[in-house]
Amino acid sequence: LFITLEGVDGAGKSTHMKWLPDFFTRHGLEVVMTREPGGTPVGEKLREILLHEAMSQETEALLMFASRQENLNQVIKPALAIGKLVLCDRFTDSTYAYQGGGRHFDTNKISVLENWVQEGLNPDLTLLFDVPLEVSRERLGRHGAALDRFEQENDAFFEAVRNAYLQRAANDPQRFMLIDSTWPYEEVKEFIETRLLQFIGQ
Ligand code: C5P
Repeated sequence: LFITLEGVDGAGKSTHMKWLPDFFTRHGLEVVMTREPGGTPVGEKLREILLHEAMSQETEALLMFASRQENLNQVIKPALAIGKLVLCDRFTDSTYAYQGGGRHFDTNKISVLENWVQEGLNPDLTLLFDVPLEVSRERLGRHGAALDRFEQENDAFFEAVRNAYLQRAANDPQRFMLIDSTWPYEEVKEFIETRLLQFIGQ
């Protein structure tokens, strides 16, 4: 099983990523965690560059997929091949949302790269953490950590990212689990647990 986590910065993705591996382990699944950009030694170097260096949209999209190619070859495919569950923090939906929605990068080009790099391998399930802009902004502010290149973008950028995510979820309701992440932590957790139990059939 290949499960991805998506959402705008500050939507609660990282918070819920913390209990998820344990949940799957308790239900007898072996979990491999990874993230994008990143997840491999080369990917993590690309992440540093992507988060902190100014570059063209084209370079940004290509580096995202370069990181993804490494992650697929080194981590995701080998794990899936031996029956492990892969939990990936962001995947191609992020590219459609951030580069496509946020930066207005040509989604046809993203689709070409997607086909080239993934060769039809897609997530079985995608957890989309959704919150309105005011909420994600407020949560990001509370982190207190220095914001990366993307987190410093303006409201219009984040609104476009969120809308691109919601559009993708609407177009593929089978794959997406849309999570209203404005609810309190425990309620969101329960909602996800219930739906995941149905998904893994236990
Ligand atoms: O979720 P995480 O903090 O790991 O994401 C790192 C940063 O990279 C985020 O600010 C996210 O917005 C950005 N990103 C992006 N395009 C992607 C993947 C991540 O802009 N395809």
